[in-house]
Amino acid sequence: MREDFEALARFGATPEGGVSRPTFSDAHLAARKWFLARAQAGGLATHVDAAGNHSAMLRTHRSRDAQVLLLGSHLDSVPGGGRYDGALGVVAALHVLLAFKEAGADLPFSLEAIDFTDEEGTLVGLLGSKALAGTLTPEFLQFPRGGREALVAGLQRAGLREERLVDARRDPRSLAGYLELHIEQGPRLEREGVQIGVVTTIVGSRSFRIVLSGVAGHAGTVPMEARHDAVVAAARVILGVREIIVRDFPRCVATVGDVRVEPGAFNVVPGLARLALEFRSADESELDAIESAVLARVRAEPMTDGVEVEVNPVARWESSHLDPRVGDAIERSAAALGLTTKRLASGAGHDAQALAAVTPSGMIFVPSAGGVSHDPREFTAWEDVVNGANVVLGTVHELSRG
Ligand SMILES: [Zn+2]
Repeated sequence: MREDFEALARFGATPEGGVSRPTFSDAHLAARKWFLARAQAGGLATHVDAAGNHSAMLRTHRSRDAQVLLLGSHLDSVPGGGRYDGALGVVAALHVLLAFKEAGADLPFSLEAIDFTDEEGTLVGLLGSKALAGTLTPEFLQFPRGGREALVAGLQRAGLREERLVDARRDPRSLAGYLELHIEQGPRLEREGVQIGVVTTIVGSRSFRIVLSGVAGHAGTVPMEARHDAVVAAARVILGVREIIVRDFPRCVATVGDVRVEPGAFNVVPGLARLALEFRSADESELDAIESAVLARVRAEPMTDGVEVEVNPVARWESSHLDPRVGDAIERSAAALGLTTKRLASGAGHDAQALAAVTPSGMIFVPSAGGVSHDPREFTAWEDVVNGANVVLGTVHELSRG
């Protein structure tokens, strides 16, 4: 497994020691090709669906129309990302299939190791897993995160057709469930010295674009008290949002991740500021409460400076609850291996949130050194990687007992 993990990390390897494999880049397509070839070399059947999801199969002999237990994650990465995010789950899934094959085990379900298309959202985000779950809508494709042009060009590079993506949908009755091994991407397991995280929920998020319109002016001649400075208003908004979250919603996070200023010069009072605001919570009613508190503040603060504000919703992701019985199976599997566990919510999005809508889904986290992720310094001790893969294997066993 380690050899395969290292082999995979060479696709899109960066000088900083990470990988850069944005969806449908040469490096991404090469990594996916490698995955299929490796599975075939191990005697597994492979296939690629209409959304470009790449799979390796180990069929059960008990029944022709047995259900399929999916094990997976994604081989795409953010630009300048790390080696573990996504790739770890795919390599572990592959090796769980190889282990069952080698042992000659006959399970009550077939096993499928799957590499989902575009988890990170270079183009759309959860493209492959949503297509498989049947929740990919035409509207979703009309306003993709990466823009229409990138989506159309990307699909063409990968030989996929937009109108056929929905054909990747699987009948939920054909699925026995979904398991995903992933690095935590946060510091909690490491801080508490816990070996395995059992994910209960994947947080929901809401995002907004905020436009603050003031009046541009000469930086030398417009007196301070006469200004309608869009950036001063932006600063009030940013600090106001932070204050509300820290004070009233301590379990949640909010981020203003982008600030654009116009015209943008030393000697001009800024007339316009555009902000990208996002907040996350595991609880839908809390998301409602944050939205009303935060947006009230966003609308009120700029008035101090006589600046007008416009708020445009961009995206809503509902929080996903993973299956408690799958969580129990993960815990039993970890306990049998003598590993410590902790139940926790995931602050990052994952393919499991798409799958949870249609099939019993579970996620297993292993510690991320320093909580670092989406960065070339992303690191998980190999012992933890092996623990995670063994827990996937054990959980398949647990689930096979019904
Ligand atoms: Zn990931």
